[in-house]
Parts: sequence; structure tokens; C-alpha cells
Amino acid sequence: MNLHEYQGKTILKSFGVSIQEGLVADSAESAYEAALHLTEKTGTEWFVLKAQIHAGGRGKGIVTETGSHGVVLAKGIDKVKDVASGILGGHLVTAQTSAQGKLVNKVLVAQDVYYPGESEIEEFYVSVLLDRSSGKNIIMYSPEGGMDIEAVAENTPDLIYTETIDPGVGLQAFQARRIAFNLGLTGMAYKQMSKFIFKLYDAYVGCDASMFEINPVLKTSDNKIIAVDSKVSLDENALYRHPDYADMRDKSEEDPTELEADEIGLSYVNLDGNVGCMVNGAGLAMATMDIIKLSGGEPANFLDVGGTADAARVEQAFRIILKDKAVKAILVNIFGGIVRCDRVAQGVVDAYKNMGNIDVPIIVRLQGTNATEAKKLIDESGLEVTSVILLQEAADAVAAVVA
Ligand code: GDP
Ligand code: MN
Repeated sequence: MNLHEYQGKTILKSFGVSIQEGLVADSAESAYEAALHLTEKTGTEWFVLKAQIHAGGRGKGIVTETGSHGVVLAKGIDKVKDVASGILGGHLVTAQTSAQGKLVNKVLVAQDVYYPGESEIEEFYVSVLLDRSSGKNIIMYSPEGGMDIEAVAENTPDLIYTETIDPGVGLQAFQARRIAFNLGLTGMAYKQMSKFIFKLYDAYVGCDASMFEINPVLKTSDNKIIAVDSKVSLDENALYRHPDYADMRDKSEEDPTELEADEIGLSYVNLDGNVGCMVNGAGLAMATMDIIKLSGGEPANFLDVGGTADAARVEQAFRIILKDKAVKAILVNIFGGIVRCDRVAQGVVDAYKNMGNIDVPIIVRLQGTNATEAKKLIDESGLEVTSVILLQEAADAVAAVVA
């Protein structure tokens, strides 16, 4: 589950990580109020207003309707309302969004931490993530943080460092010091950075995150180390341990069809291809996507209907798949182990008749208990459904329709 910057910062702060203070607002009026509060709390007179969307690159991004950037400095409280109006309610297009951009519902009003006399300021890149291949956590970092980090990774990859942390042993003091050293820090800033790294790693482990990306981590002109941005992904499988984080989910940021599938308990991921697939079991779903590709098609989705492939479920799955107008054919690939193939076949026939408006070819491959009975049932239904038993036949049938 991805979080907004302001939510990520709330979590970081709760673990003692120093952050750029801010308050979130959903109107120009409340942005002004937020700025007033911030001045009381921090003494700041300048503010930075940041669009809250689930995508990075906001600083360079443009709000289509107003031409404003997604991150804008307001040099004085009298500028806050105008700056907020330029960001809120518009569509922000960045290198990480679609061409339509993302609707901005909230703006974070934060204290300006790039104080004047800023020659001493430095921006670093720091992320903590799970490295699945080694089964360990890694801290990835660079002295060249900021908005051009992609170019740094591309052109000077030797400036991106990694530190591997064994989760059983935890982050060691020498590792935090090595990071601060490689970032080129000395004195007070060096000490502050190693503390910062410790707290950050604690936060990552403590909230069951799968990724933390802080870009930039700032060294202020007075040698404080603070998180200016936060991109946090939490492990959904651990959310039961953090009910307060579960409430941070922003459904407006998610794909509407995926959300609908989620609500009815289907595991569905929308993809770019033309062959819809309905499968039971995640492993078989992956194999089915491979078969589709090998036959010259492109999978339009990943869909695992799970154990119960009855008529109601099959119909729900058909409806979800057919919302995608790019779908030119549907491959149903079900293994009948506990669920008998003839029951699934009956489900397909009933769902098909019930919907009455399916206008793409359907190929059904049922294998397992009662597979021959299932094939017979579909063949005799008189519907525009091709029924096969072997995977190769299914692949050939898909190839024939996408050719
Ligand atoms: P991103 O572009 O989506 O990654 O958004 P960031 O939160 O990283 O902000 C983009 C850029 O805005 C940063 O790299 C900074 O250069 C700049 N920025 C952020 N906070 C401040 C601030 O307090 N003052 C000033 N002057 N610039 C800031
Ligand atoms: Mn950033």
C-alpha cells in the first residue's frame, strides 16, 4: 500500500525521524490556516506547498489547468492562498503519471527549510528497501540527491551506494557511520546523519514497510539532517498489525476496476494487453499469462478467482475483465481439483447466458476432475465458447483469435 508524502512523514516523525514540518490542507483557505499554525509552531515565514499525489517528480511536474509546478515555494504568508489555488483541484502531470495526470485533492503546506544563506545546504538520496533476492534489507544512498536522481543513476551509477543489513542482526553502528562518511559529511552533520539513518531504519522495520524513499534528505545550513520528502510503501500483509495505518489508504489513487475486484475478493491486476484471463490460483495465472504471450497475444490482466469458481463468481470475473475495452478474447483456465470441472463449466454457461452481451470469443480450458464431462457440457450448450482440455490447444485457440 502506497502512502502520501504527508502520511509517510507522520509515521517517520512517530519514530523520531526529523522531518520538514508541515500540515495538510484541502482548500486555499485551509492552506492559509495551516501556514498560520506553522509560523506559530516553527517561526517560519516562507512555506513550500506540495501537491499530494501517489507519484514522484512533482517538483518538475506541471498542473495542466494552471501551469503551476507541483512543488512551489511561497515567499510569505500572503502568497499561500494563490499558490495553493494553482495546485489544488488541478491535474498534475509528472514523469511518473499518465498524460492525463493525477487530480490533486490535498496540498502539504510545509516550512521552508532551505533557509537563506543556503550555500551550505546539501541534498542526499536515502532509501531503505527489501532485497528479495538476498532476503535482506538494503539502504541505498547517494550524495547526489534531489530532483535529478534518475540522471545520477543513469550517468554516474558509482555515486549510488548500497549497505546490506541482515534483518536478524539489524543495522550496525559502523554501517550508519560508513553511510554518513560516504555522503561526505563531517563533524556535527556526520553525527546527525548516523542518528538519522538509525531512526530511519527503525521506522522501516517498525511499521512493516517494504520501501522507504527519502529524496531529498537535507543537510540544512545549520547542520540539521531532515527528511524533506517521503515515499513510503507498507506491506499490506502486515496491515492487520497497524489498524491506524490501514486507515491511511487513499482509494481515490487506485485503479477503479482493481478496487471493485478487491471489494468482491477477486485478485485482479489490470495490464496493457488484449487477452483477458480468468484463472484459479496465482501460479496457474502466471503460467497462463506466459502461454498467452507465447501464442502471440498480450495478457490484459491478471485474475485469480480463487477456490470457488461458481456461476456468480465467474460472472463477476467476466464483468471485471470486460470493463477493459482492449480485451479481444478471454481465456478461462481452471484446474478442477477441489472444485469439479463440470461445476465450473456450468458456472461459465450460466454466467454467459445471464450476461447476454459478451461479444468477444471465449476459450475455456478445464483440466482435472470431470474434465471430459465439463467439455461436453460446454460443447452442447450452443454458446460461442471454445472448450479445450490441453494447455497447448488453449494456446493454439488464443493464437487463432489474436492473429
Ligand atoms: P518530488 O519532486 O515529487 O520528489 O518532490 P520533493 O518533495 O522532493 O520536492 C521537490 C523539490 O522541491 C526538492 O528536491 C527541493 O529542491 C524543493 N524543496 C522542497 N522543500 C523545499 C523547501 O522547503 N524550500 C525550498 N526552497 N525548496 C524546497
Ligand atoms: Mn522527492
